[in-house]
Amino acid sequence: MMYWKFTLIALPVLIALFIAIFVLVYTWQRRTMRGARPLLPLLFGLVIWLVGSTLEALAFDANTRLFWSNFQFIGVVMVPTAWFMFSLVFTDHAAVLTRTNLTLLLIMPLLTLILLWTSPWQQFFQVSKVLNTSGPNPYWDWVPGPGFWIHAAYSYSLTIAGVVILARAYQQSARLHRRQISVMLVGAVVPWIVNILFVVVRVSPFDYTAISFLITGTAVAWGIFKVGLVEITPVIRKRVIDEMQDGVLVLDEHDRILEANPAVLQMAQVSADVIGQHMSQISDRWPELRQRFQHLTSGQEEVTLAFPDGEKRHYQISISPLLDKNDHLSGRVVMVHEITQLKQTETSLMVAKEAAEAASRAKSTFLATMSHELRTPLAAIIGYSELIQERSEAFGYEKIVPHLKQIGTAAQGLNFLIGNILDLSKIEAERMDINISDFSVSDLVAEVVNSVQPQMTKNGNVLELDLAPHLGLMQTDRTKLRQILLNLLGNATKFTYEGTVLLAARQDHATGCILFTVRDSGEGISDQMMDKIFQPFVQADSSFTRVHGGSGLGLTISSRFCQMLGGTIEVESRLGEGATFLVKLPVQFPVTQQTEAANGRIAEAAPQ
Ligand code: ADP
Repeated sequence: MMYWKFTLIALPVLIALFIAIFVLVYTWQRRTMRGARPLLPLLFGLVIWLVGSTLEALAFDANTRLFWSNFQFIGVVMVPTAWFMFSLVFTDHAAVLTRTNLTLLLIMPLLTLILLWTSPWQQFFQVSKVLNTSGPNPYWDWVPGPGFWIHAAYSYSLTIAGVVILARAYQQSARLHRRQISVMLVGAVVPWIVNILFVVVRVSPFDYTAISFLITGTAVAWGIFKVGLVEITPVIRKRVIDEMQDGVLVLDEHDRILEANPAVLQMAQVSADVIGQHMSQISDRWPELRQRFQHLTSGQEEVTLAFPDGEKRHYQISISPLLDKNDHLSGRVVMVHEITQLKQTETSLMVAKEAAEAASRAKSTFLATMSHELRTPLAAIIGYSELIQERSEAFGYEKIVPHLKQIGTAAQGLNFLIGNILDLSKIEAERMDINISDFSVSDLVAEVVNSVQPQMTKNGNVLELDLAPHLGLMQTDRTKLRQILLNLLGNATKFTYEGTVLLAARQDHATGCILFTVRDSGEGISDQMMDKIFQPFVQADSSFTRVHGGSGLGLTISSRFCQMLGGTIEVESRLGEGATFLVKLPVQFPVTQQTEAANGRIAEAAPQ
């Protein structure tokens, strides 16, 4: 028979019990979350302890009290053990808890309970325990035995070990986890201080440990609601995954769907019911998916899927393996990123690019044809103006000779310009042929020097030569190299008055190239013009055009020719200090696929 009587001292214990039950239920509902599971045994032990304490406080007679006091001890032995285990799991040391270690951990609590419950027959655990009812609140007058002290030492050791483990983790943790750990430490330490005061120091006949669990309960409850003790990591993770625009699918090793976020469900046009079912629920609708990804454990691929509404959508699918702690494959994570829009943009860009290229080619072809057509009447103009000039001189019409000479010069200039435009448009239309032949470098240099000599004299310039002995043969496009050198020398003398122009040539054995240098002491090129002079139709200054003439195409063509022949052209110059152009060309034209593709056709010509 049990007799009950409400006492005020039971109230705080009762409140602590309710909080503990609430926290236990709350945590139990979230038991799948990482933070929740290791808390459960601890909370369960706490509830047992508090149920025992409450009922003991409410019980009227000594026997009922003794029964609940003994019952309470199930919780008392559970809590330190569970606390120690919690600290291990929470700090990622769960691996320590092997089956053997767990069994060892449970031996002491079980022995303690057996010793306590058999106290009437032996005094190893407690020498005596008598209810003192002299005051308003009855309490136990008890004399502990050695068994109790062993139990106390064991419990305190486990508690301290847990505190140390958590404190060490605290030092190494991020801010978020630090708050969680501090909550747990406060919740754990307070009751044990109270307990030590009661058991060891004996400051009061009452055991306030159970009441102090009120603090533990509040700390844990605060932890749950304020710092998300149970669910912080999982909750944030889940929310992030749910709100992601990319689809996330988690499969187990048998391809069962463990997790599918709303985005992936929407993409696949299926409901959340597929979670827990086999992946074929989704992949059966697109056999190509099954084929390509069935055995793929990691990688990234693009797929195009046809939908019942007739639309085709493009996706980028990345698969990564899920490994268990023994590095065995335990599933896969599939990320799905829709790239339909990207693909559409890409396609329209490609179409636009092709159209632009076609238009550019058409323009170049048109220019090439036009230039050719322009040259025929021009040849007639040049030819006939020369003829008329000769006749006029012969028949004594001296007055019109200068006019005819002007026609001739202008027509020659036009012819040269058209020649350049024709070259450039051929290059751009990829119709410029390369004619390879063997020739002597010094012969070519002599020929070029001869051609530019009259221009040099006209501007009062001296041409200096610095040619290495035995320049030997080159095997490349002679006409193009000739044109490059003529352009550079032409420019050098065009922008120099009464100065010197140097043409140097030497072999560079290390690279198998010949280096041509054209240096002048003319007006030089400004810094801002330096990177532009190789662009078509660019001239340093429009006022120069009037003085020097030219079209701004010479350097463009020269640099494109150099490129075609596998070489480079560089310029060094300062305004007012002359200019130096360096041409570096391989002695032997390199027939690589790259130059072939970039420069159009290559023809073998007879050696000149
Ligand atoms: P252009 O027909 O005008 O000479 P180029 O393409 O050969 O066309 O040269 C482009 C511009 O680069 C020239 O107009 C000139 O401003 C500058 N330039 C080229 N060579 C020299 C040089 N040796 N000295 C000074 N400026 C030069």
